[in-house]
Amino acid sequence: MSERKAIFITGGGSGIGRATALYFAKRGWFVGIGDIDALGMEVTLDQIGNGFSYMVDLDVRDRAAWDRALDTFSTATGGRIDVMFNNAGIGIDGPIVDNTVEEIERCLDINLKGVIFGAQAAFPHLRKTAPGSALINTASAAAIWGVPNLSVYSATKFGVRSITEALDIEWAESGIRVASLMPGFIDTPILDSVTSDQSNMSGKQQLLEAGMEVNPVEVVPEVVWNAVHGNDVHYTVGKMAKRVRRAARWFPNRV
Ligand code: NAD
Repeated sequence: MSERKAIFITGGGSGIGRATALYFAKRGWFVGIGDIDALGMEVTLDQIGNGFSYMVDLDVRDRAAWDRALDTFSTATGGRIDVMFNNAGIGIDGPIVDNTVEEIERCLDINLKGVIFGAQAAFPHLRKTAPGSALINTASAAAIWGVPNLSVYSATKFGVRSITEALDIEWAESGIRVASLMPGFIDTPILDSVTSDQSNMSGKQQLLEAGMEVNPVEVVPEVVWNAVHGNDVHYTVGKMAKRVRRAARWFPNRV
């Protein structure tokens, strides 16, 4: 097996996934990214700029595609995957009665089923590199509090949180660490999808107007690193929007 450790990151074509890919690449890791956004992935690989990176078209909802993606990544790394970062996710905002069946199913499928499939597909690879291997799932601060007008999103993230807690115990005897990230608002394109309204303001601007803290994306990768090497099950990231419930009263169709 090659000496160079390897991490596979879903959603590596944008935001948190890209920032984490760059961080691990700088520390000498072999980085694989999977996403439905091929152009975004190319930007990430360009920014990494070395030969120890790899991209694959992956829709996390496709169970068979998962096996293909991780098998080919493992071949590229010389037979090892040390960390699976189950990070891809989408937002869905608005009062629950306004969420369409299609929106709800898409959010459940990507945010929850995608994480389940990623865990299943990663297990045989992580068992090979254990002890020291890890599954890290991106949950959210919305897995701590159910967020008004983000109720379906919150439900998926509570699901990610509970899978993390269950697998932390289920996989302990295989020597695989399992942990989740619980970020507050992070400055990435997803903010536009969880705050969309009729104004011309960006998602970030709307949140700032509402008195929320928006953290720079650079705060996240170090926490992923700590989650890989630490002992806790959940890791909060950045400043949390503790006022989210109060804000929702006067900012009714938003956060
Ligand atoms: P982002 O929109 O910048 O990145 C999400 C990435 O996931 C995109 O590249 C997108 O193409 C990809 N993706 C979407 N559907 C996919 C699919 N079916 N298969 C594969 N890839 C898919 O957003 P981000 O902020 O970087 O989000 C990353 C994770 O962080 C998400 O799970 C999100 O819920 C979570 N999160 C974000 C925040 C925040 O404020 N930004 C806060 C808490 C949690």
